[in-house]
Amino acid sequence: MMTVQEVADRYGVSATFLVQALAKIGCHGMKPDANVSAATVARFEKAFGDKIRAARPQSEPGSDSDQPRVVRREPKPHVMRVAHEHISGKRDMRTMVRYKVLADEPGPAHAIDAAGTREGDPWRGEEAPGANKFYDHQGPHAACGAQVKVVMGNAFDAEQDDACPKCAELVAAGKGFRTPPHERRSPFCDSFLRLRVEGRVIVEQCRLRDYHSGPHRTFDGATWDAGAVDYVPAPSG
Ligand SMILES: [Zn+2]
Ligand SMILES: [Zn+2]
Repeated sequence: MMTVQEVADRYGVSATFLVQALAKIGCHGMKPDANVSAATVARFEKAFGDKIRAARPQSEPGSDSDQPRVVRREPKPHVMRVAHEHISGKRDMRTMVRYKVLADEPGPAHAIDAAGTREGDPWRGEEAPGANKFYDHQGPHAACGAQVKVVMGNAFDAEQDDACPKCAELVAAGKGFRTPPHERRSPFCDSFLRLRVEGRVIVEQCRLRDYHSGPHRTFDGATWDAGAVDYVPAPSG
């Protein structure tokens, strides 16, 4: 038995979409943690499986595979690491090359979920005490919002003397984690349109690829561009 959320993850769709899709095949009022029977999953697969796979982004042009890319959603280990705002430069007097070092006063120890930054976690979720990695751009933002220039291999410890109080508070509350860039968006446009039809509120969801051109379109073929004003319901039948 799988839950709605688990089935949604398996297809790479949102739980909201799955709930609506299940309603269309006769299972109404499902919640993300509700169980879905194998028979229902099979009916869902029959009704939506091909459409979902067809809506997936295709392989990059020029790639050597014609297979649609598999959407992987493997959870990444997240380690809250120490990060600092202040660095300084030194010069190697032999080669005259400048390099970055931690400033003598690097500022408070902020917390950052490096797995959710553009570069990802330099140490792949492992602790690496004493190691550091300087950013070669303006730097990402720590949990508290401070822009940091260097991330440390050390795990953030809210009890450490130099811990940023705001970061410590957020980490203690289980907040401050970031979603890695490649997990951030669904492959679908996901635009919603809420409508009232004959006294009932219906919600249509665009199932075209992300960043598509032209009007939004649902699986059933309902379309809209600006919103309710140019909404065209799905052809019946
Ligand atoms: Zn902070
Ligand atoms: Zn759309």
